[in-house]
Amino acid sequence: MSAVPGDIAFYRRRLMVEEQLRARGIRDERVLAAMQEVPRDRFVPENIGLEAYEDRAISIGEDQTISQPYMVAAMTELLELKKSDKVLEIGTGSGYQAAVLSLLCREVFTVERINSLYLRARKALELCGYLNVHTRLGDGSLGLPEEAPFDAVIVTAAAPEVPRPLMEQLAEGGRLVVPVGPRYTQSLVLVIRHGDDFERKLSTPCVFVPLLGRHGFQETPS
Ligand code: SAH
Repeated sequence: MSAVPGDIAFYRRRLMVEEQLRARGIRDERVLAAMQEVPRDRFVPENIGLEAYEDRAISIGEDQTISQPYMVAAMTELLELKKSDKVLEIGTGSGYQAAVLSLLCREVFTVERINSLYLRARKALELCGYLNVHTRLGDGSLGLPEEAPFDAVIVTAAAPEVPRPLMEQLAEGGRLVVPVGPRYTQSLVLVIRHGDDFERKLSTPCVFVPLLGRHGFQETPS
């Protein structure tokens, strides 16, 4: 289901890639090509249509959002993926980030805690033919020990601290990207594993919905 030049969505994506990504410093050509290819409009609610390509996060229901294209690109670039990599994503949401990752590595495992989103993302990924993405329902703050180790881990929800299980499930040299900080303002943290040492680098400020679970924020009763 890759882009067909001549369709409007293709040109909207081209504008997105040039104006929102390349012009703002995304340099990795593989990441740019993947974002040119994935039909972001198929991962948002139907009434959104080509607004999917605007420079912002978009509501996908259940109080959750699909991240702004720039944030998807920046996080993906930090992972420095190789075609042979096995990747874990926490926070499937719409499935869009998983689709982008799937073009850059061997296999993606993605975990979502809300059943309705999990089902919808699974269907969208299947319909678009991203067959190397494996969806799971559960508390992703625990990681996916049965599939570890991972060459890269990406968390697309904000955590108060880097979740320990996700660090432990990294392969040697593996990279983990996670927004860390208080509930309404965070910074992207990149963790790189060297044996039992975990090097940390701080990157862009950001705002994500909370990672709720054992190694995330506590759920507040509504
Ligand atoms: N990557 C997504 C956007 C994610 S929004 C996309 O491309 O559309 C963050 C998602 O994280 C939400 O769907 C939320 O339900 C999920 N989430 C929050 N806490 C979680 C947890 N402990 N385990 C798995 N998913 C979680």
